[in-house]
Amino acid sequence: MAANEGTGFTTRALHTRPRVTDAHGALRMPVYDTAAFEFANSDEMQAAFEGRRVAHAYSRTSNPTTEDYELRVTALAEALGTVAVASGMAAITAVVMALAEAGANIVTTKALFGNSLSLGDVTLEPWGLEVRYVDMTRHEDIAAAIDERTRLVYLEVISNPQLQVADVAAITAIASERGVPVVLDGTATTPYLFNSAAAGVAVEVISATKYISGDATSIGGLIIDNGVFDWSRHPRLQTWFAKGGPYALLMALRRNVARNMGACLSPHNAYLQTLGLETLALRIDRSCANTLALAQHFDADPRVHRVNYPGLPSSPTHGAAVRQLKRGFGGILTIELADRAACFRVMDALTLIRRATNVNDNKTLAIHPASTIYAEFTAEQRVGIGVPDTMIRLSVGIEDLADLVADLDQALAHA
Ligand code: PLP
Repeated sequence: MAANEGTGFTTRALHTRPRVTDAHGALRMPVYDTAAFEFANSDEMQAAFEGRRVAHAYSRTSNPTTEDYELRVTALAEALGTVAVASGMAAITAVVMALAEAGANIVTTKALFGNSLSLGDVTLEPWGLEVRYVDMTRHEDIAAAIDERTRLVYLEVISNPQLQVADVAAITAIASERGVPVVLDGTATTPYLFNSAAAGVAVEVISATKYISGDATSIGGLIIDNGVFDWSRHPRLQTWFAKGGPYALLMALRRNVARNMGACLSPHNAYLQTLGLETLALRIDRSCANTLALAQHFDADPRVHRVNYPGLPSSPTHGAAVRQLKRGFGGILTIELADRAACFRVMDALTLIRRATNVNDNKTLAIHPASTIYAEFTAEQRVGIGVPDTMIRLSVGIEDLADLVADLDQALAHA
């Protein structure tokens, strides 16, 4: 009888089967910690290298443990396919390199994770890629920025740390009409909180370091092709489309860009992140519930000048959040205090919540973004990006809520 992989999110996370059953019947896919794989004869070896036979040859390109992880992510996202790489930044870099080239442009926003902004401005612009910035809430500006040399539109579902929620379906409609794919960073949501395929997103990239890995076990990134974009329309993928049709992007990544960049996911990290997938929904539910409760609690606290969380009616993009995020508003909130010194005093007074730079960890973490992640930007640029000196970012974990409230409450006495 055929194996039943279930229909619910967590059931699929647990029961999606590997392509090849383990030789020993291991209940969990083992870690294939090997660089290379052996072939029975030269014909089979040639067929594997030419892509005529599905087989692993070298772990920089594919590996059984990583493949099992990719298949489960694909099942959870109800997508066409997934390529797992070494980090979230490697995922973003690989997609941009696969879809764009010198002399072309990409359309994005300043409301982005700091290193993603830096990738465009500092790393890729010197290679001749033009990066155009728009306000993603101003749809007419997005339409005006796209021209015949635009290769992709890039944004985050819930931007980090501005916590701006974009109207994703409206943006994909604008881009698709002009033949341009939308690449969405879904780190803050994962396919559990937001179904990017249903919103017309061509490619979702995720830093698996965050919610998926769970407790900061490992760095990793995912590139998910949702299978909703017709790659025959994309100038950069013509050759790959002729070879692979709808698989054009996945082939370009696996057999060219991701392979040649060399930022492959280690099989051990694939194993850790697969473990994370199995409890993803449970942990996200708890982190979202804690975050909403903390946001509501401290919204009423006069020591806090402002609480920003998409789940609060006071958030400028609360409407877009309610329409699109049916299971929760994510695990990040920010608070604003009088000045940088007040932020430092409150952060230094925390005794349970950790001072660390990750997000969507099982543990609650605090950071002052302006003096850390955004330190390479000028004070003026930071205000433009929406990262003022007065802001503390809290990434809320899965602890017991009362302990988090107590720690923040005593720390705020130092505000
Ligand atoms: N995208 C977002 C929204 C992030 O918050 C991060 C990391 O903080 C990244 C991408 C980069 O991910 P990684 O650290 O796995 O390279």
